[in-house]
Amino acid sequence: MPSLIQRLRFAGLKHKPVIKKDNERGGAGKQLIYWLDTEPLSEEEAYSSLDKADKVVRYQRSSAGDVKPSWLFRLIFNQGELKNRSHRGYWLMGSIVFTVLLLALWLGLALFGQVSKTSPLTLGQMINLALLVGGAWLIWTQYGLPWIRLVDYRVVKAPLMALSWKELSAELEMHRDSKGNQWTRFVRFTGDCPICSGRVELMSGKPEHRLPLVGRCVESPHAHVFSFDRTQLTGHYIGPDLHAVD
Ligand SMILES: [Zn+2]
Repeated sequence: MPSLIQRLRFAGLKHKPVIKKDNERGGAGKQLIYWLDTEPLSEEEAYSSLDKADKVVRYQRSSAGDVKPSWLFRLIFNQGELKNRSHRGYWLMGSIVFTVLLLALWLGLALFGQVSKTSPLTLGQMINLALLVGGAWLIWTQYGLPWIRLVDYRVVKAPLMALSWKELSAELEMHRDSKGNQWTRFVRFTGDCPICSGRVELMSGKPEHRLPLVGRCVESPHAHVFSFDRTQLTGHYIGPDLHAVD
């Protein structure tokens, strides 16, 4: 009801839908008729201004195993979770460091090879170079950068290659359990938009926000924007100023 009233107010309507019945007490053999009716909004409901407290989104964290990683990561993560200081954790860290080093070496050698040639560049060489840079960028954004950022940011968007093809979007989270052990897990944070009841998902803050991750309403991703607090699981409205049009 509160979210419905908020939407009615937002749309400039002065009535709310209610369910009515023709008899207060039903019972055996008595017919009871229900119907939908409208009632004017009460003073309080109609005039509570759209203040900051109204525009708070509450995020929900999906439970363990809800987000399906790709087959490669299913081998390393157990039910979408991984203890950082474990054999599998070290294996993952090692393979990321190895991938990044190999990438740097490969790119360095390839670029050096291109530069050291004295003959002018042919079209074939240009295409080779473009493929090389594209491939390097892909490996870096999928297997390097997100895992390195995760340590500082605690939550990042999971790279698409780490997710099962059925998953469209999910997050990676690093958290500490009660014994102080660090864990990495696949999760999804979602919420209900307090303005339009659309689904709020975490997306990149770029281009208009400096925060790395913000909650964006799928119905209006650039207007209904919210901050994201991982520990409180709340966010407040940070989109364009709603009172600017008044
Ligand atoms: Zn919305």
